Amino acid sequence: METRIIDGAALARSIRTDLTARVAALAAKNARPGLAVVLVGDDPASQVYVRNKSRACNEAGIASFQHTLAASTSQQELLALVGKLNADPAVHGILVQLPVPKHISADAIIRAIAPEKDVDGFHPENVGLLATGNARFVPCTPAGVMRLLAHAGVDLAGRHAVVVGRSNIVGKPMALLLLEKHATVTICHSRTPDLGAVIRQADVVVAAVGKARMITADMVKSGAAVIDVGINRIPDGPDAGKLCGDVDFAGLLGRAGCMTPVPGGVGPMTIALLLENTVLAAELATLKS
Ligand code: NDP
Repeated sequence: METRIIDGAALARSIRTDLTARVAALAAKNARPGLAVVLVGDDPASQVYVRNKSRACNEAGIASFQHTLAASTSQQELLALVGKLNADPAVHGILVQLPVPKHISADAIIRAIAPEKDVDGFHPENVGLLATGNARFVPCTPAGVMRLLAHAGVDLAGRHAVVVGRSNIVGKPMALLLLEKHATVTICHSRTPDLGAVIRQADVVVAAVGKARMITADMVKSGAAVIDVGINRIPDGPDAGKLCGDVDFAGLLGRAGCMTPVPGGVGPMTIALLLENTVLAAELATLKS
């Protein structure tokens, strides 16, 4: 079987191009979408993510307001900044880059963000809206996965989807979205005894674990659609230090029906969906004013 490679970079580009018309429509009403990105500390990976998000905003005509705070910033100080951004009419979306330093409660920060500016979709109000089928801001990574599956023509109704990973930012919202599209959904995690036996039943596999190449060809049914959310560094060997996913990409070629690469699969989609959520937040704010 020939495995179709799903090109997330190309799809993300087309989403970003489509957004320019919506940004132009807002500009005609004298509104410009604005995203505030807050980074606490100097984690190198987070610095790269924040830089990429700011650059993508600029390219899409979205104003980006970057706030870089020292790792020693207190929870009170961060809450005060979130409060200021909540009140700023030029800011339609607020994103606090996770993880935050250990002395700060990520939950407390997420709850402090105004739900109508929570473009990450992590606030309990937005999580509840998603869970009840009334989604406003869908978390960007699982939203991106759904677009990739639709783009690849993967039929979900009545199919068995297995999500590996149950985090609040990827695994859980992913399962809700697949369920909404009428898949039969199984969620696996670190306590799942025989991961291979569960994944082998799947027509659709979404891997969001954070373990390099842990899903191998023998664990996947022939013809399954495989979406790889993981971003890992290859620990050793000739490619040591390069990026790879949770799926053994080379091993699954010829076995999966279609599959996303890492890089160039889910990653660019996450950024495109963040921009889309920010434009949506600005559109909703404009409707209210
Ligand atoms: P978390 O660490 O929050 O969650 C990982 C999940 O994997 C947990 O639910 C954990 O189970 C589960 N898990 C760990 N080990 C195993 C195992 N051996 N077998 C089965 N399940 C296991 O990670 P995230 O959800 O935040 O991210 C997952 C991956 O996706 C990471 O590589 C991250 O970098 C990447 N990512 C990529 C994005 C993108 O844009 N492409 C965006 C966000 C994340 P348990 O709950 O029991 O501990």
